[in-house]
Amino acid sequence: MIGIIECSMCKKMARANLILGNNNICTICEQKIVGLKTDHEDYPKYKERIKQVLCYSYGM
Ligand SMILES: [Zn+2]
Repeated sequence: MIGIIECSMCKKMARANLILGNNNICTICEQKIVGLKTDHEDYPKYKERIKQVLCYSYGM
């Protein structure tokens, strides 16, 4: 089902793109994550957010 869901990374309403459990990651954030170098200053921040999304999805 395609819908408009809040992006778990940027908290903006976006078209369903990458669904992890009940969470959505919009195309912009997905591309940011994919293109982010591991030594980029934003990398730890995104890593933590994804961890939270996954933990929430798995009910941990
Ligand atoms: Zn986003």
